[in-house]
Amino acid sequence: MSRDSRFDILFEPVKIGPLVAKNRFFQVPHCNGMGYARPRAHAAMRGMKAEGGWAVVSTEEVEIHPSTDVSPYIEGRIWDDRDVPALALMTDAIHRHGALAAIELVHAGMSASNHYSREVPFAPSPIVNPASYAPLQARGMSKTDIRNYRRWHRDAALRARVAGFNIIYVYAGHSLSLAMHFLQTRHNHRSDEYGGSLINRARLLRELIEDTKDAVGADCAVAVRFAVDELRGADGISAESEGREVVAMLAELPDLWDVNVSDWSNDSKSSRFAAEGYQEEFVRFVKTVTTKPVVGVGRFTSPDTMVSQIRRGVLDFIGAARPSIADPFLPKKIENGEVDDIRECIGCNVCVTGDHTMTPIRCTQNPTMGEEWRKGWHPETVPPRSGDDSFLIIGAGPSGLECARVLGRRGYTVHLAEAGEELGGRVTRESGLPGLAAWARVRDYRLNQLKKMQNVEILRGSRVSAAEILEFGATRVVLATGSRWRRDGIGRANSVPIPGFDTAHRVLTPDDLMDGPSSSGPVIVFDDDHYYIGAVLAEKLRLVGLDVTLVTPSDRVSAWTANTLEQHAIQKRLLELGVAIHTSRNIVEFNGSAVTLECTYTGRHNTLPAASIVTVTSRLPNDELALAVETLSGEFAAAGIVSITSIGDCLAPSTIAAAVYAGHRYAREFDRPPSDEAAFHRELTDIRTS
Ligand code: ADP
Ligand code: SF4
Repeated sequence: MSRDSRFDILFEPVKIGPLVAKNRFFQVPHCNGMGYARPRAHAAMRGMKAEGGWAVVSTEEVEIHPSTDVSPYIEGRIWDDRDVPALALMTDAIHRHGALAAIELVHAGMSASNHYSREVPFAPSPIVNPASYAPLQARGMSKTDIRNYRRWHRDAALRARVAGFNIIYVYAGHSLSLAMHFLQTRHNHRSDEYGGSLINRARLLRELIEDTKDAVGADCAVAVRFAVDELRGADGISAESEGREVVAMLAELPDLWDVNVSDWSNDSKSSRFAAEGYQEEFVRFVKTVTTKPVVGVGRFTSPDTMVSQIRRGVLDFIGAARPSIADPFLPKKIENGEVDDIRECIGCNVCVTGDHTMTPIRCTQNPTMGEEWRKGWHPETVPPRSGDDSFLIIGAGPSGLECARVLGRRGYTVHLAEAGEELGGRVTRESGLPGLAAWARVRDYRLNQLKKMQNVEILRGSRVSAAEILEFGATRVVLATGSRWRRDGIGRANSVPIPGFDTAHRVLTPDDLMDGPSSSGPVIVFDDDHYYIGAVLAEKLRLVGLDVTLVTPSDRVSAWTANTLEQHAIQKRLLELGVAIHTSRNIVEFNGSAVTLECTYTGRHNTLPAASIVTVTSRLPNDELALAVETLSGEFAAAGIVSITSIGDCLAPSTIAAAVYAGHRYAREFDRPPSDEAAFHRELTDIRTS
């Protein structure tokens, strides 16, 4: 197929300084938990974006010097020449597919812990990093420090050119770099020519751009990444005042403006808190004050929205981190007229958790993300079938759907049996909750692909029993029957049932609420799960007017969502909705009309009235079928069954991302010989060099 002519504008070449980008698709810098520690994996991941048609593919932030060591986080590193070969792996992989490679040079200043290098952190003035509780402060920079910093930045730009980068970024974004800290009055208390007026506070940024252009500007383009608005009103940079003035002041100096909002949680808002294109209101002024090309982000997955951004003069490049993670082939699919095949980002921010847990990036929608080198997985191609197996997959949740999709693509005959009439399992149920509608894309992408496969049959309304498995005639059986929430309160804080939970009337689980039964107020949501579902249910109940209290043994609501950049926004939303919050409290009893709470520190008790409880503690695998089948294992051979395998939540409940991954993995690996070794390539430290 060829592309729809209304998308032609997205494929126009655009000049960036001395270079030309082949189209308007720009993978902006994003971290990935691989960085300097896993350069082969990193190069393969970036190369995949280039293969998928992005005109520009960028690194994450890349530390320029040991005094900007952001450990324990794993970002890029260009401290000295020895870092060049690892980075060149990436530029080679990008150039192989005709894309430009960009590097985001950073000195993180006070945002760098320097836990590894043990250097003293720098800041414009002697201050403490407000984003960290680490017991350390930054020293104020002397003029000599500023001169040194400029030299390090220049030297890093020269090394970056040697490594093959085409676009060199000066980074003043996310409140994570010295260039931005100098701009911020709350961090810059200087009285010399680098402090005070905006011209003075922007001096360092100007000098860095000039230094970089001077060093590499003949062959490389120089980009500035700048947060035009910090969404903190008068206390920060805002698009109405200083954000606009900085762009106006430096308008024609860089070759490209990459603009966004700060901090990272504002820049990468989840779909629960912001819609596609949400940054437009902040960044649209930029093109009115500069003639240089402008790139911006907004979780763009719809080609029509992209075209609209260009036509209305908001952006020149469609910037993307998450949409390029969920679908590295997004540009190619638009170009080839395969818009329906785009694997749209759902805005869950599971990709961010890789960085926060210092492990390779993962994605709910794209299970191959991070596995390009480790496992040799390609997002668009799968190995052909290796034999005559036929498959019965039981359960059409995310795990079963992905398993069917990949086995189908491999050319196998697949029967996908689902007990209910609805497909999608937990994704369908959870996408009906407040703010989670976009999660249905996990189901929709897969159903759309399955629809096109003659060799995959979907059987709705088919609850399969162990005896029916034996009769079915498939050689391999996959159980993807999911999980259900416990009712008895067992979870992290309680290893035995909470008295009253298993007997009292009106103890509801998330499954009950998603199935429809309403609860009555006052209702207590007991969240001992600590991810999103407890707070989402509290929100749902509050929105129908109930008196809702959220009780959690944690010291904050939805604690794990700090890893998806949502924790602050979630707690804020509940407070604004009028949900009462009791943190550091366990529930020790429910008597049908009140709960007894226990302080997790002192053990002191207090009571709260409660007409109903929603208990969000942990889940039980739906393993009844697996257990029943096990008792029939002696009959497998006669029935022609080679294997029966549980995957996803029915093996061990986890994230939707883990369920999709499990389905994908089974479909690729079921025919590999078993091995005791790690199922992926490892990057081993070379101890021959120092
Ligand atoms: P996962 O996240 O592992 O994909 P889900 O809970 O989302 O799991 O989906 C499991 C699906 O399996 C549900 O749609 C459920 O209706 C279905 N299911 C459970 N038991 C059976 C069974 N015996 N036969 C057919 N389908 C089943
Ligand atoms: Fe989008 Fe979620 Fe994938 Fe991140 S993990 S790219 S937010 S679908």
